[in-house]
Amino acid sequence: MVKSKVKFFNDSSNEDDKNQSFYIDKIVNYLQNKYRHKDMPLAYIHTFGCQQNVNDGEKIKGMIALMGYGFTDSAENADFVLFNTCAVRENAEDRVFGNIGALKRYKTANRNMIIAVCGCMTQQKHIQEKIKKTYHHVNIVFGTHSLHKLPEIIYQAINTDKRIFDVESEESEIIESIPIVRQSKIKAWVPISYGCDHFCTYCVVPYVRGKEKSRTPENILDEIRGIVSTGVKEIGLLGQNVNSYGKGVSPKINFSELLKRVNDIEGDFRIRFMSPHPKDANEDMFDTIANCEKVCNSIHLPFQSGNDKILKKMNRKYTADEYLNLVNYGKKIIPNITFTTDIIVGFPGETYEKFLDTIKILKQVKFASVYSFIYSKRIGTPAEKMEDLIPKKEKSDWLREMLRYQEDITLDLNKSFVGKTVNVLVDEIGKQQDGFISGRCDENILVEFPGAKSLIGNFVKVEIKDYMKCVLIGKKID
Ligand code: SAH
Ligand code: SF4
Repeated sequence: MVKSKVKFFNDSSNEDDKNQSFYIDKIVNYLQNKYRHKDMPLAYIHTFGCQQNVNDGEKIKGMIALMGYGFTDSAENADFVLFNTCAVRENAEDRVFGNIGALKRYKTANRNMIIAVCGCMTQQKHIQEKIKKTYHHVNIVFGTHSLHKLPEIIYQAINTDKRIFDVESEESEIIESIPIVRQSKIKAWVPISYGCDHFCTYCVVPYVRGKEKSRTPENILDEIRGIVSTGVKEIGLLGQNVNSYGKGVSPKINFSELLKRVNDIEGDFRIRFMSPHPKDANEDMFDTIANCEKVCNSIHLPFQSGNDKILKKMNRKYTADEYLNLVNYGKKIIPNITFTTDIIVGFPGETYEKFLDTIKILKQVKFASVYSFIYSKRIGTPAEKMEDLIPKKEKSDWLREMLRYQEDITLDLNKSFVGKTVNVLVDEIGKQQDGFISGRCDENILVEFPGAKSLIGNFVKVEIKDYMKCVLIGKKID
């Protein structure tokens, strides 16, 4: 048998997890025999949804690569297809089902194709049933709590004609050292906690991701040191609620202390984090950001609604004034700070008058950008049972009205950068003109300027000369 070179899961106390290396070896052997006279087998891995899912997708790729698969950008050419799904809104689910349906004809052409569906959607019973009944060409379904068992699950699938449904309701301990193939060599997201204990009434995340669990600072710092040593220039600390970090960690540590320790790691890199919850944000968090030179002066702080009654019904546990006080404190002590946010339009009970309170917050904070969503009813959440009288069409009109306000706010904010010098991490070729390169400044706004491709992956000081709706245009300072 051919042994895979890398061992992992070895620091787990769970014997099943240690065994995953064993299944990888078996799969390597199986694929070498099966594809002996052909090209290397190819995998198509498609991730939907948030950064947490993207990070899971990178781990899936890490395990798949060890099994001996190469990667392709086309499902049609793949021997193994995996959809890593998102359940936060209905339209995300619809897109996944559309994509799964479209695979049927590829599978008819290639009977050997293995199709797997995983992630937040598959953690829900009604979705498992729908795939079981309607999508017979799907071979494997596994949930968020079974991710680390992927080698064992694939091994079972290649050894049986039966379909595999591995969706655990019990969460395992945090599994460290799962191999990873990162999307970018310039920026990396590092989970500091998993799951969520907050139960906002509209949200499915606590049900599909489980209880909030924090990684130990040692594991987080070791991972970041390793990443930074490969030349990565931006670390994003990731959690459904990053700033309640520390639950169950001994000795006690909170988010601000963790930020300081990440900031103390030597190297030329900057730090972002996503998403802090306003309920757990305080002056100490902003003081820490102000004092940590590597932490960016841009904060994603979801407020969801500007109306106190709606915030209460959402179980957000802060008021509009408390939110504004936090923002104002941040603006007072952190130069050039920018904010971005998430907003839900048309939550049950929202009227046009209540919706106008959300617009008020937009005007007061002047966000750099907003991620706004029409409320989507999620099965099993408390809001599912709430009376929802406003037609979808009216909610869409509100959303459009809000985006018109936000467009002017973004333009004004971008205009205020003209003449300022910003620090840009260049990460790709620009789109505005030939010879331009682009990246985000510390304030998290897209910047483009004329420059050599060789600057990609470096920090560059840029003086802003002009602005548009979605991008600042500048000139490199020599
Ligand atoms: N943990 C993060 C958000 C996770 S979900 C936080 O609390 O900030 C990302 C965003 O999706 C949320 O901030 C919310 O704006 C939106 N969202 C979540 N559930 C939704 C639903 N049922 N309908 C519409 N938008 C929703
Ligand atoms: Fe969902 Fe609220 Fe948890 Fe964010 S904090 S993941 S919105 S329940």
